[in-house]
Amino acid sequence: MPYTYYGWISIFMCVCACVCVSSDPLCGRSAQKSSTAAATAAAPLNFLVVGDWGRDGTFNQTLVANEMGIVGTKLNIDYVISTGDNFYESGLTGPDDTQFTTSFSEIYTQESLQTTWYSVLGNHDYRGNATAQLDKELTLRDSRWFCSSTYQLKRELVDVEFFFIDTNPLVESYWKENNKDYKWLLPISREEYITNELKNLSISLEASQAKWKIAVGHHTMRSVGKHGETLELLDQVLPILEANGVDVYINGHDHCLQHIKRSDSPLHFLTSGGGSKAWRGRGANEHKDLGLQFYYDGQGFAAVSMAPSFFHMDFYDISGNILHTLHLSKN
Ligand SMILES: [Zn+2]
Repeated sequence: MPYTYYGWISIFMCVCACVCVSSDPLCGRSAQKSSTAAATAAAPLNFLVVGDWGRDGTFNQTLVANEMGIVGTKLNIDYVISTGDNFYESGLTGPDDTQFTTSFSEIYTQESLQTTWYSVLGNHDYRGNATAQLDKELTLRDSRWFCSSTYQLKRELVDVEFFFIDTNPLVESYWKENNKDYKWLLPISREEYITNELKNLSISLEASQAKWKIAVGHHTMRSVGKHGETLELLDQVLPILEANGVDVYINGHDHCLQHIKRSDSPLHFLTSGGGSKAWRGRGANEHKDLGLQFYYDGQGFAAVSMAPSFFHMDFYDISGNILHTLHLSKN
């Protein structure tokens, strides 16, 4: 695949449809195991979400990978979504960087994980050659790899569309003149990129008839973690998502597992950034007023099962414990 700097790619899979309405969140530990079993037994779409992982297996990356493999087998997953910061500390140097092998191909070796990885870029990826991760050379090295700047994935079998967003260009502090950590390597200006990206996001979401709409980006919108909220996304992206019926926004960036649902927004905000280094000592139980439903300052990942009638997400730790469940349903 060529560099798709500002392209809006659509990937269409399967066929089917449905229509929707109400949402019924089920959060907390109590009825998790039974609700999980019931909800996911015959789910037509199953996938895992992991973020902030590429550290050559260190910081428990390998343990997270092992548990992903186990849960992936149980659910017979269709794919994996990566919420970015794919390679630490500074992304890849180029499409031939050996870290792609040592942090990805040689880590996620379990059979169930031998499926497509739909990835977005994180800020650490932009500290290196971000365009290297979009290069078709990586997919030739490992056929599971799929990464683009901003793209769309449609799964008609369960009437869901995913909108993957490159959130990095929007974060002003990275692109200040005195910040030498980030390199803008694209052939158009950042301003032009952002204009195109937001316009295409808006047009694509408006055109989407999907019953379920899920947005994925690296940076947080709502978060009580170390990085906290990303104001540029709250100002420029969240209004587009809210105006177009997006159900869930999934991100990484904060190295934790987190679920926020506030009364002032219809969206559920999920952070799955526990792919390796975590335990930053952030306890967040005092933030109930910010809509915090769950916060885990440790490693893990999310497992999602979907049908036209439900979205079911379990947060797993590295021991296979389900820490938190979110179940949304639509008629
Ligand atoms: Zn990050």
